[in-house]
Amino acid sequence: MYAIVVHGGAGSWPPEREREITYGVRVAAEAGRDLLAAGHSALEAVTAAVRALEDDPLFNAGTGSTLSLPGSVEMDAGVMWGPRWATGNVAALPRVRNPVLVARAVMERSDHALLAGPGALQFARSLGYADYNPVTAAARNRWSRLRARLEDSPGEFGRLSGLLRDHPDLEGDTVGAVAVDGQGALASATSTGGVALKLPGRVGDSPLPGSGHFADDRCAVAATGQGELMMRHGTARVTACRVGAGESLREAIAATLDDLEHHLGSEVGIIGVDPAGEPIIAHRTPHMPHAVAREGTEEIRSALVHTGRTGDDPPKGPAPA
Ligand code: ASP
Repeated sequence: MYAIVVHGGAGSWPPEREREITYGVRVAAEAGRDLLAAGHSALEAVTAAVRALEDDPLFNAGTGSTLSLPGSVEMDAGVMWGPRWATGNVAALPRVRNPVLVARAVMERSDHALLAGPGALQFARSLGYADYNPVTAAARNRWSRLRARLEDSPGEFGRLSGLLRDHPDLEGDTVGAVAVDGQGALASATSTGGVALKLPGRVGDSPLPGSGHFADDRCAVAATGQGELMMRHGTARVTACRVGAGESLREAIAATLDDLEHHLGSEVGIIGVDPAGEPIIAHRTPHMPHAVAREGTEEIRSALVHTGRTGDDPPKGPAPA
């Protein structure tokens, strides 16, 4: 039973954008589903899905990535292939179109698991990934507005966290995908421009296997939310360990979300899939656009918020109008 789940970031989206956002995640799930249906691996499927989201300027990954404090783009991405616990990741990578492809090349063509900054860029160029400017006018405008608000807000420390608390729509819309293929093999992938106004060199959880994503032979998971907290928690690995200890993936994801909320005060979102093709979508943020495609079901289901069919906790925020 093959299946793929994709997400477009846990956070808050204006209801009037629901249609274009759910369309974006649906296109990504379709790209992965078509590969799975043709007999390709879960790794191919999550790579294709995340690549589609990177190419959609609506999402904070690849084209349309969030800008750092000085106005540059530094992207993080990762992939993991469950059968071999193989992983490739890039961090603080500028000026490529599809960071997820470079992450995959790290896994398949280097001896390393993570390349960062100038070294990651040099690696990408050596393999022929061309110079590309991922900054969009919308991302630049958003950056200008955010900078202006930051400068107007009082206080010396914690301005940004306060600002993001009051305006959750300013946070990133990281993307991720998990899949199981016809052979029962699992894979995960993530990609992000990171959090708005981050310091240059800041790396989040997304390119850290075990924090932002993880895949083994029991489950594949991808997380979205404040990276600094998920790195401390080891979110993706903690979830997989719970499954290894006998919990269902549904129970494991719910318990992980509880941990994060109660111990770190963090509201995140997690998608997952198990070898039987059971898709799980759960988040504690108002929204998390996502799409699911499964073998035997023609329809690709996409939505801005959890629909109650596949996750185990309804979102706490309001449903879109
Ligand atoms: N986890 C991402 C980061 O901290 C942000 C997100 O998921 O929205 O870079």
